[in-house]
Amino acid sequence: MKIKLLPSTIDPEGRVSPEQRLSCFVVDGRVCIDAGSIAIGLTDEERGRVRDVIVTHPHMDHVATLPIFVDDLFGFLEEPVRVHATEEVCALLARDVFNGTVYPPFQNFDNGRTRVMQFVPFEAGEEFPVAHLRVKAVPVTHIVPTVGLVISDGACTVGFSSDTSATEEFWRVLNREPRLDALLIESSFPNSLGRLAEVSGHLTPEGLGAELRKLRHEEIDVLAMHLKPSFRCQLVEELEALGVPRLSAMEPGREYEW
Ligand SMILES: [Zn+2]
Ligand SMILES: [Zn+2]
Repeated sequence: MKIKLLPSTIDPEGRVSPEQRLSCFVVDGRVCIDAGSIAIGLTDEERGRVRDVIVTHPHMDHVATLPIFVDDLFGFLEEPVRVHATEEVCALLARDVFNGTVYPPFQNFDNGRTRVMQFVPFEAGEEFPVAHLRVKAVPVTHIVPTVGLVISDGACTVGFSSDTSATEEFWRVLNREPRLDALLIESSFPNSLGRLAEVSGHLTPEGLGAELRKLRHEEIDVLAMHLKPSFRCQLVEELEALGVPRLSAMEPGREYEW
């Protein structure tokens, strides 16, 4: 399985910079997890192939350019862009984003050949198919309804925490998996901002370290993501100081493979 965090920030010379402001991860060039930078970071080939987007929660950094992505493709689609999310999150996206004011209700529009966008609700706790993948969604601990994901392509399995503070069910589900190849876990704020992390439903590196002690799988790659850009250097140092083998900060634009 190949996973790439899409870049969402460019430096003054127009080059991709390591800061992550938006969340969008491309799996095997054809499925996106969250859609923050989906309209600005995909290659042309990926834009031609990605028709399935899993939305973990409705925060702006996770859905910001989803409307623009559908808009770009409007006249070309031969099948809808399928937005996979819980019933609750689908309803929030319809009410707050695709509502005819912020952006058109693409879920009601077709281009003469196909509906351009379709909400595909899933139940947290139940496995469901997304393109070539099998996915389980697990509620995590954030300030709005949010799911973490366990994604498998039949050969390898990857865990994705989404935005969360300390949580339990996600680890129970991961520990029941016969194999786990990699874990993408959030680490938003430095240790000195532990209180802010807690009230905003996020983790610090210390909190990440405590969460990893709940995981029974060993020798897996751990990629820290969702590092708040203003604290990136400090976060990287604090993550290194944990001394966790195979833990690193995920780099936007790099394709990781398991
Ligand atoms: Zn969030
Ligand atoms: Zn976020």
